[in-house]
Amino acid sequence: SIEARAITKKFGDFVALDDVSVSIPTGRLTALLGPSGGGKSTLLRIIAGLEHADSGTVHIAGNDATQLPPQRRNVGFVFQHYAAFKHLTVARNVAFGLEIRKTPKEETERRVNELLDLVHLRQFAHRLPSQLSGGQRQRMALARALAVQPRVLLLDEPFGALDAKVRKELRDWLRRLHDEIPVTTVFVTHDQEEALEVADDIVVINHGRVEQMGSPTALYDEPANEFVMGFLGPAT
Ligand code: ATP
Ligand code: MG
Repeated sequence: SIEARAITKKFGDFVALDDVSVSIPTGRLTALLGPSGGGKSTLLRIIAGLEHADSGTVHIAGNDATQLPPQRRNVGFVFQHYAAFKHLTVARNVAFGLEIRKTPKEETERRVNELLDLVHLRQFAHRLPSQLSGGQRQRMALARALAVQPRVLLLDEPFGALDAKVRKELRDWLRRLHDEIPVTTVFVTHDQEEALEVADDIVVINHGRVEQMGSPTALYDEPANEFVMGFLGPAT
């Protein structure tokens, strides 16, 4: 599980996260949902260890990770404008994390092939990232994040820059992937429909506070307040 407790984060005088506590269960697909500027990415970056909170703690799989650097948190992450190594093939991009960990060659090759099958990119293994579509590149990024078998996968609007049709394809695919390999996954989105359709649990974040946490049905049927009702309700 991921436990973020009493997280406060300020940028100068501006309070980006105000005493936020969230509890993300193991093996679930959880959405951080809310409007722009609400603090979703900041919370994700604090969980990843890319940013430090002013106060509060982060526990990952029962261990206090508050002081640990990102590489020691056993998390994989994918951000919206994902930077692949442009001069490396798709296969070498996916292999990268395994190579820096000095994984034996045969094992690396076997894992990379498994992962490329999983994200349906095996036939593109020898292409360069520039020769892939946006959706294919995002799938490569996910394969790369999964390569080192993280305990936790953190995705910040992984499908944000894509058109509606590809977005829908990728979100269905993420759901199926998660059912196959249930890594504890947190993904950020400002799209209500995306969260309602894909997530097991939703955390609604607005103005640096958690408005509500629960299953899609619980939030939709019993919104805790006007904000959640307005944000999740049918568009007018
Ligand atoms: P979006 O949906 O637009 O990505 P978000 O919910 O991810 O929004 P954050 O990126 O977490 O929002 O930002 C929360 C608030 O903190 C915003 O008002 C933002 O301007 C502010 N903020 C974020 N990073 C910094 C920074 N490095 N310096 C100053 N202010 C920042
Ligand atoms: Mg963001």
